[in-house]
Amino acid sequence: MNFYGLSRQSSFVSFIKTLEHNWLLHVKTTRTLKTQQTRIKSSQNFSTSCKHLTVKKRKRGPSARSNKLFQIEQDRLAMATSKLKDQYFDYFLVLDFEATCKENELIYPQEIIEFPVLKINSKTLETESVFHQYVQPRVHKDLTPFCTKLTGIIQAMVDDQPYIEDVLKSFDKWMADNNLLDENVKSLFVICGDWDLLKMLPSQAEYFKFETPSYFNRWLNVKKAYAEMTSTYPKGMMPMLEGLEIHHQGRHHSGIDDCKNIGNILIELLKRGYMAKATGSR
Ligand code: AMP
Ligand code: MG
Repeated sequence: MNFYGLSRQSSFVSFIKTLEHNWLLHVKTTRTLKTQQTRIKSSQNFSTSCKHLTVKKRKRGPSARSNKLFQIEQDRLAMATSKLKDQYFDYFLVLDFEATCKENELIYPQEIIEFPVLKINSKTLETESVFHQYVQPRVHKDLTPFCTKLTGIIQAMVDDQPYIEDVLKSFDKWMADNNLLDENVKSLFVICGDWDLLKMLPSQAEYFKFETPSYFNRWLNVKKAYAEMTSTYPKGMMPMLEGLEIHHQGRHHSGIDDCKNIGNILIELLKRGYMAKATGSR
């Protein structure tokens, strides 16, 4: 091989080497690009699945705990901005009897079948204790279908329940257990109208010849409180709820639900600056 031939051969080898190097470089670059693309794709998939999770979480809404905390904060704010006055009474005892009844007909003697009372703290406006007892009627033992439809009280809810005298004893114990008989603790019954404590309880006491404790002899009729604050005398509980834009809770003419709604009306009036006082007595 002459010098010229050798040199031709070596330049051919270096040409092949350059080709090989470029090819390897190409393969390497393609591989790197592919890996990067896969990484991007999988990260996109991940964020999509994260989005999916986020959407799902959002759909579930805030937790019960955060709802509760939000409500507490709202209540605090409402209390801070309310015109709640220092009340003469420490507690309000919201009471609402249900009794035996017939459609378009008077029933005699009418007897209490549901006896619920809420104890509301006049400063915090919290319900601190509840007395709730169904009562067995003695004269008209069978509830009329009308009575059940009106009050939601079925026969089985009063059968085998204590009679009114025993319920009054339990109620007196509840009053004592709740410090409500302490002369330094001032409380006032709150009813819707005057019927419960002016007519219903006294007429039943007279018929069955039992005494009623003196604490039942004075009360606040929430309709009068509403009239004082709004200059409109309301027909009943429902128009008061509507007038004050309060959501009605539970079933109308269920004693315990009526108590909750009457309590909410009272609380709203107190927040608007109502100074509670007895409006009825016997
Ligand atoms: P309330 O506190 O308004 O739920 O009613 C107390 C009680 O009054 C009821 O348990 C019934 O005995 C009687 N009452 C209420 N509405 C009627 C009505 N439309 N017809 C007959 N009795 C009624
Ligand atoms: Mg009622």
